[in-house]
Amino acid sequence: MNLVLLGAPGAGKGTQAKRIAQEFGTTQLSTGDMLRAEVDEGTDLGRHVDEIMKAGRLVPDELIIQLIDHQLDHLGGAGFVLDGVPRTLAQAHALDAMLARKRLPLEAVISIDVDEDKMVERISGRFTCARCGEGYHEKFKRPAVEGVCDVCGSTEFVHRADDNAETVRQRLRDYHAKTEPVVAYYEQRNLLRRVNGMLSIDEVTDEIVAKLRSGGRVD
Ligand code: AMP
Repeated sequence: MNLVLLGAPGAGKGTQAKRIAQEFGTTQLSTGDMLRAEVDEGTDLGRHVDEIMKAGRLVPDELIIQLIDHQLDHLGGAGFVLDGVPRTLAQAHALDAMLARKRLPLEAVISIDVDEDKMVERISGRFTCARCGEGYHEKFKRPAVEGVCDVCGSTEFVHRADDNAETVRQRLRDYHAKTEPVVAYYEQRNLLRRVNGMLSIDEVTDEIVAKLRSGGRVD
């Protein structure tokens, strides 16, 4: 199953992409995670995008397209969940051409819809395990044992550099201006399934899985 997951910053794309990839045995491809890894490793690409990401701005389309092109060539074969891409119409068009060339048909696009007023709170409280990447939130999802990752037992956690109120507002502006047209684009092509991202993490997963399994277009 080949999917795209769309949603405003803080909608829970990363969390849900991991769960959906696990459910269907596919690979999560997160451009944000890939770029953060480049920054952490100090590669040429990482140095180039570091400031852009810290400011909450979008990385140039060509770089994103190259990243995805490369990753799609190294897939296991069971399919993918694209998380955080495409974010612009240019990326969506390039992705279409790429998928056609690689004979990887896109089966559905999930839009996780959220109430934006709540997003700043959601984003500024989130943090992840430094070792395994499991996501947490100061208010909504704390580790079962304080300071210890539920999944791998690590005691080190990290906050994303771009998870602050000012940057979040910039990311929301870009989402409206550049990514909402992508949602409309997939809606016109009848690939879009909308889910309510204001439900609990488990409920959102259940809704996505139900909509994918039923195959029907729901909004
Ligand atoms: P994310 O983890 O998806 O929120 O992405 C974090 C940051 O990486 C974004 O704020 C952008 O600076 C950059 N980024 C990730 N994916 C894309 C994309 N598809 N297009 C442009 N920039 C991106």
